[in-house]
Amino acid sequence: MSEFDLIRQHFTRATHHTNLSVGDDAALISVADGMELAVSVDLLVAGTHFFADADPYKLGWKSLAVNVSDMAAMGANPKWATLAIALPHNDSKWLSQFSSGFFACAAQFNVDLIGGDTTRGPLTISVQIMGEVPIGQAIKRSGAKAGDEVWVSGRLGDAALALAQMQGKLTLSEEAFASCAKALHTPQPRVALGLALRGLANSAIDISDGLLADLGHILESSKVGANLQLNNIPHSAHVGFSAGLRDKNLFNMILAGGDDYELCFTAPAEKHAEIIMLGKKLNLDLSAIGHITRGTGLVVHGFDNEILDFKETGFDHFS
Ligand code: ADP
Ligand code: MG
Repeated sequence: MSEFDLIRQHFTRATHHTNLSVGDDAALISVADGMELAVSVDLLVAGTHFFADADPYKLGWKSLAVNVSDMAAMGANPKWATLAIALPHNDSKWLSQFSSGFFACAAQFNVDLIGGDTTRGPLTISVQIMGEVPIGQAIKRSGAKAGDEVWVSGRLGDAALALAQMQGKLTLSEEAFASCAKALHTPQPRVALGLALRGLANSAIDISDGLLADLGHILESSKVGANLQLNNIPHSAHVGFSAGLRDKNLFNMILAGGDDYELCFTAPAEKHAEIIMLGKKLNLDLSAIGHITRGTGLVVHGFDNEILDFKETGFDHFS
C-alpha cells in the first residue's frame, strides 16, 4: 500500500466546517467574524510519553484528547486538527485501530482532521489543534487575582493510580483499576466547562502535569500565590482515602499526579454560587479547593490544618 493509499484509507474522513481538507498541499479554513484562532501542538514519543505497545485505539483517542483539553483550558471551541505521524512499519491493523480512536474523539468534540504528514520512523505522534474563541475572551494563565477562589473539575489522582499499578507500585481492586485506567487512557477533555467559563473564570489551565505543577504555572504567570485545603481536593473513591490521604504516595497522586486532564481555574469569590450551578448543569463536580493570595507562595494545608512540607511528603515535582 502506498503512502497515499494509507492516508486515504485511515486518515481521510468527511469534514463539517472545512473549506478544503486532506489531499492538497494545504488545507483551507475560515475563521468566523469576531473570533480568533487558538492554536496548540503536542508531540508524543513512544517510550517517553506512552508505551510502544499501548492499545492503538486508546492512543488515537488520547493523542487528540490531550490537544482538545488545551482548547478547553483556553475557553476555545476546538474545530480543526492536523496529525503528523512517524511509523516503524505499515501495520494496517494498528493504523485502523489508531484512527478509529482518533476519529471517535474527533466526532465527540466535532473536530475535523484536515491534514498532516506520514513518514516511516520510530513511532511518534504529533497533533496540532486549532479552535475558535471570541476575540479577547480566551481564558489565560495570567488572569488570576488575589481573592479568587481556586477550583478543579472532576477528581484528581485516578490516572496516577492506574499508572502506579501498571508500574507495580500498588494493587487496586479489579473494578477500581478499570475505572482509573479509563481516566489514564481515554481522558474526557472538559470542553463544555471551558466554554462556560468564558467571562466567569479569571484564569484556567488543564491538569496534565499534576495540580501543584499546573496551578504553579497560573501563579507564576499571574504573579500571585495560593492557599489550598487538602481535604477540599476531590479525589478517587477507589481507595480508602480517609486513611490513605495520610500516606505520602497517595498525597503525591492527588497533588502531583499528572494526566488527569481536569481543569483548574480561578474565579472571583462572588461567582461561587454561579459556578456550583454550572457544575450541576454540566453534571460535573466542581470543587473550590482554596484561594489566590497576594505574594507568590503556594501553601497547602493538610487535614489537621498543618502546613504540608512538600519535601518531606515526597512531592517528586518539587524535590
Ligand atoms: P506534501 O507532500 O504536500 O507534504 P503529503 O503527500 O505528505 O503532502 O500528504 C498528502 C495529503 O495528505 C496532504 O493534504 C496532507 O495534509 C495529508 N496527510 C498526510 N498525512 C496525513 C495524516 N496522517 N493525517 C491526515 N492527513 C494527512
Ligand atoms: Mg508530507
